Amino acid sequence: MTNSDSNEQVSAVSEDTASRGETFYPGPSCNHLAAYPPKERWDDWTELDSKAWPRRKERHYQLLPTTCFNCESACGLLAYIDKATGQIQKFEGNPEHPGSRGRNCAKGPATLNQIQDPDRILHPLKRAGSRGTGQWEQVSWDQALDDIAGRIRKAIVEDRRKEVMYHVGRPGEDGFTERILAAWGIDGHNSHTNICSSGSREGYQLWMGLDRPSPDHANAKVILLISAHLESGHYFNPHAQRVIDGKANGAKLIVFDTRLSNTATHADYFISPIPGSEAAILLAIANYLIQNDLYDRHFVRCWWNWEEYLSPDTRKFVEDIGLEDPLAPHNFKAFEQALKNLYQDYTFEFAAAESGVDANIIEQIAKVVATAGTRFSSHNWRSVSSGVSGGWSVARALFMLNALLGAVATEGGVYPNAWNKFVPRPIYTPPHPKMWNEITWPREYPLSMNEMSFLLPHLLKDGRAKLDVYFTRVYNPVWTNPDGFSWIEALTDPDLVGCHVALTPTWNETAYFADYILPMGLGSERHDIHSYETHDAQWVGFRQPVMKAALERSGEEVKDTREVNPGEVWEENEFWLELTWRIDPDGSLGIRQFVESKKNPGTRLTVDEYYGWIFENSLPGLPEKAAAENLTPLEFMRRYGAYEVKRQIGAVYAENVPSSELEDIREDNLGRIFTSSAKPAGPNIVPLPTPDGDDQGRRLVGVNCEGEIKRGFPTPSGRLEFFSRTMVEWGWPEYAIPTYIKSHVHPDNLEPDQTVLISTFRLPIQIHTRSANAKWLDEIAHTNPLWIHPSFAAKLAVRTGDLLRVETEIGYFVVAAWVTEGIRPDVVACSHHMGRWKLTDEGQKQMMATVTLNHHDSEWGLKREKGIEPYASFDDDTLRIWWKDAGIHQNLTFPVHPDPISGMHCWHQAVRVKSAEPNDKPGDIFVDTKKSREVYKKWLEMTRPADRYSPDRTRRPYWMLRPLKPAREFYKLPE
Ligand code: SF4
Repeated sequence: MTNSDSNEQVSAVSEDTASRGETFYPGPSCNHLAAYPPKERWDDWTELDSKAWPRRKERHYQLLPTTCFNCESACGLLAYIDKATGQIQKFEGNPEHPGSRGRNCAKGPATLNQIQDPDRILHPLKRAGSRGTGQWEQVSWDQALDDIAGRIRKAIVEDRRKEVMYHVGRPGEDGFTERILAAWGIDGHNSHTNICSSGSREGYQLWMGLDRPSPDHANAKVILLISAHLESGHYFNPHAQRVIDGKANGAKLIVFDTRLSNTATHADYFISPIPGSEAAILLAIANYLIQNDLYDRHFVRCWWNWEEYLSPDTRKFVEDIGLEDPLAPHNFKAFEQALKNLYQDYTFEFAAAESGVDANIIEQIAKVVATAGTRFSSHNWRSVSSGVSGGWSVARALFMLNALLGAVATEGGVYPNAWNKFVPRPIYTPPHPKMWNEITWPREYPLSMNEMSFLLPHLLKDGRAKLDVYFTRVYNPVWTNPDGFSWIEALTDPDLVGCHVALTPTWNETAYFADYILPMGLGSERHDIHSYETHDAQWVGFRQPVMKAALERSGEEVKDTREVNPGEVWEENEFWLELTWRIDPDGSLGIRQFVESKKNPGTRLTVDEYYGWIFENSLPGLPEKAAAENLTPLEFMRRYGAYEVKRQIGAVYAENVPSSELEDIREDNLGRIFTSSAKPAGPNIVPLPTPDGDDQGRRLVGVNCEGEIKRGFPTPSGRLEFFSRTMVEWGWPEYAIPTYIKSHVHPDNLEPDQTVLISTFRLPIQIHTRSANAKWLDEIAHTNPLWIHPSFAAKLAVRTGDLLRVETEIGYFVVAAWVTEGIRPDVVACSHHMGRWKLTDEGQKQMMATVTLNHHDSEWGLKREKGIEPYASFDDDTLRIWWKDAGIHQNLTFPVHPDPISGMHCWHQAVRVKSAEPNDKPGDIFVDTKKSREVYKKWLEMTRPADRYSPDRTRRPYWMLRPLKPAREFYKLPE
């Protein structure tokens, strides 16, 4: 498909120009595919019009950078703005971006489809009938802002602050909205993390105090992936290109995946274990390294908290929990012997029995891992850690291999994320909220990684709270989360949700049940600062509304992004600033001060001042670099879209703490160093450890390593935590050290007629909710059949295309079979990203089927009435739509499965797969939400709540990460 446009200048390219042999233009690239428009020519870039071929028509473009908003990788994009039409012609990669280096996945250029979507929401809408009936009226931004601001103000004044909640799917930025919520004084941040990555985060945080890995794939000797992320995981493009760099440099690639994923097709070793058995394999590899003394003894001795494991107060409970009690003297040698004893049962044969993978293959992989030394890069994100109960133990077992090899913050190893990411200091930092919100952080889950977001309908139905103002922002829980019908029940109950404001660029299943739908800008229509760990460096990307930047470059003033965006589409930052201003117009609540201009007191902060301040004051080296080009820092970022703060961060943990931070120090018996020195002021290039201090109020500043005071890790011990005192003290002593856990879908826990459904894998060319009208992407991927092995299909006597009924604990869905050898024989799989639906004609017509919902008491049914059809719009391509399917919304049939420790929703389902009934149609769904409640309560009983297990009457270990941390005193449980 194409985008139509016209108005080009026609001219012939002179022979002269061609004969000069310029690298980038004219003619085909002289060099290779890595050729990009050089930044010196971005103001007037010339290309030939492909549609005019064979005539040579020139088109002139201004190239303006922004950041892709279609996943969290924050790749750089260049908008090609046609100088003749003033329209964006296309998006390509920004070669000046240190993370993506000019390369994008298919979703980046498809930003064009999103901004030119004929069905997008262009004006603020207010519900005009009861929720879900599809009746809307257009309202002005002023009406919406005044109404919402008034409600929030009233809730704050009446001290009902816990009734205000902001629930985000894709943040796409680093901290702006958290600070807005802090300015309001509310603990109202909610996220989607518990349906996404909490499992991995828990495992990583237990080891290193930081919750994500930053693998250096490009320089690795061995790469081990449990994330399918070459093609579909988190850092799809920036990591994928570096995995390929690593392979090109000779790295061996090992992939664990139940399916033959795109990543697996590139692997040197691909194994397909029984889902949930991965930790058994990883610990067998660890055992091989341990028993054969193939680990880095010096690294383990310096950086593991083995002394804590051997300390007398740990010995007190060691016998109770069955851990090895090493013989005295309690020195490193004794620990090494204990380690051998602790892991000796994780043999290759044990791993083979658990995983169904041949023991010889596991042994081969172990031998390859052993060759890596400190160049071992590994990654576990989503995949099994998000699929099964105890999934966090997979990330923990995987990182144990890095910790054994010393491949931590090494070239070719794995870095903690925060060291490879830069979050600049903002113009204002409101104080920590003085409250604790129990509906997002319920006391049953004191160790959860992020909010228990997907339990919200159940927590509301429990009567634990109600919401007066509920924002969903780039978040579609009815479709994305498990148990969507319970969400509909909660969202349509005015006693539970007073006013639901959906901030979204497109229609979605949740927005249909909202009170307001407010149209928000896409990647090229908004400002954000965005930084992510893509390799060992630190960079900041700047998302910007490119049409505003273009007009300003030509001398025009743009006060507000609504002036340049389609319809009345607004950017979120301006929206939040204005809403905050209206909540506290006279400043009497102490809120307005955080959105007030410093340059022009008494007026509202503008985004130009906000970002200008950050770029001038918080990005080390940027002012000088900008000045060298005669630009202000803001102009520099508008021109290039990214800034590399530092190349090569290295092993932060091993840095010596400067003497200026070592005032009045004290060392405890575990070699932790506490200081009275304040934290250094100014922007931190590298985040410092933040765990608790000592009982004298000194802060932990580092650890004693062979007589030198080193930075260490931000864990309670200051070292990598092989042994987790936190786990022991908070009621989970059986998980004090890395362990294998039999999951909720372990073969022992399945009925004879049940199998495991893998539902977590994603399509690399769809964007959760926002790609329903990305026509290029829809044309590539628009269905999600059930992957089923030929042997399983033969048992059911089904062939590709036959309908199957997949029964879960709470209902069923009907889906077509896809018979393939690319999956284990004893499991089935169905991808995420499909099954989008709408109740009326209002919606993204290119990938949302029209359905009816049937509802009687707790029983819900969904039936597809109409698939995808061609339709007339201003884009002629909508008449060329040839696909009819929109896939199956399987998540509706999944009950909630909150892991009792990480809080992660355990996505894998124990299902019964049967041939469809005679009246079954593709896409049919049935669910009983009474059963959903029963499953919710069953899993709730598995928890060990803070009331009972907290060692110090707090709600959560203070050292653990938490977005928008409340003031410390609010960690205390009420008496
Ligand atoms: S990986 Fe793809 S979707 Fe994600 S930011 Fe990069 S280009 Fe956009």
